Amino acid sequence: AKANGRDDCVFFDPIMQKELSYTLELEKDLKAAIDEEHFVLHYQPQYDRQQNIVSAEALIRWDSPSKGLLYPIHFIDFAEETNLILPIGNWVITQACQQLQRWKSQPILQDLQLSVNISAKQVWHKSFVNDIIDIVKKYQVSPSQLMLEITESVVLKDLTESVAKMNQLRDFGFKMSLDDFGTGYSSLGYLKSLPIDELKIDKSFVNDITVDESDLIMVKAILDLGKNFKLNVVSEGVETQTQRDMLYDLGCNLYQGYYYSKPLPLENFVSVVQNTNAL
Ligand code: C2E
Ligand code: CA
Ligand code: CA
Ligand code: CA
Repeated sequence: AKANGRDDCVFFDPIMQKELSYTLELEKDLKAAIDEEHFVLHYQPQYDRQQNIVSAEALIRWDSPSKGLLYPIHFIDFAEETNLILPIGNWVITQACQQLQRWKSQPILQDLQLSVNISAKQVWHKSFVNDIIDIVKKYQVSPSQLMLEITESVVLKDLTESVAKMNQLRDFGFKMSLDDFGTGYSSLGYLKSLPIDELKIDKSFVNDITVDESDLIMVKAILDLGKNFKLNVVSEGVETQTQRDMLYDLGCNLYQGYYYSKPLPLENFVSVVQNTNAL
């Protein structure tokens, strides 16, 4: 094929050509993965102050027959750009609800809450609220067992619209979490008008809490905010006992990170819960 005008040469640039075919290939693969449900959720436990597992964050992996297990960094941004995140997002919510439904009859698992990540495209999509309500109804799950994680940066892009959507979801009974909190570099005035239940401290702050004074100040400030607004605060990326103890002394409510557990395949997650939570 021959392109028009002066950009002719660009069209034949072998690097561009390679990128383009890579992109087309990826889009084709991802569409097939959606049709064939080649995804799995891994569950990363969240521990309360008494070291019981009270919830878990569901994290998606693409289980590709040809490429092996692919982590979100390799496909979530692309899925977002191509709107394929919409069917993927619905798949995630459906899976989480199916799991909650299966756990209903099991005393050790029935009270677990699941957190799912909601992307920008989902939040802005017109049928999002109805879609998610339909899914929980279908699986007869209590919406209060689902914590919807929305990043601070998504919320700040259109505060009025976000608050409206979040209110609808919360009025129905879903729990709302503000993910990657503190990374938006914004004034905090908006927090008081936000319909949320939880703040999630980004792991970038937790990471250096023992060595970097400014990270410690951030974490303290977030925990104070949580206390004053009566929000649960979750620390993500807790990797060491020292970090955990420090966060504990500062009053953190929930802990998630490699110190306790990596995100686990379903069966492993279930046995960790069974071994951790005494009945
Ligand atoms: P996130 O929401 O900030 O999730 C936390 C990430 O930190 C996860 O990476 C988790 O495995 C990792 N992590 C947990 N504990 C530790 C720790 O102690 N140390 C370190 N270094 N990392 C830890 P993962 O699973 O690779 O997910 C990356 C991102 O992909 C997530 O960041 C989230 O933004 C996105 N994502 C994952 N699943 C979904 C999904 O179902 N839908 C959407 N829209 N995005 C998702
Ligand atoms: Ca998250
Ligand atoms: Ca994130
Ligand atoms: Ca994060």
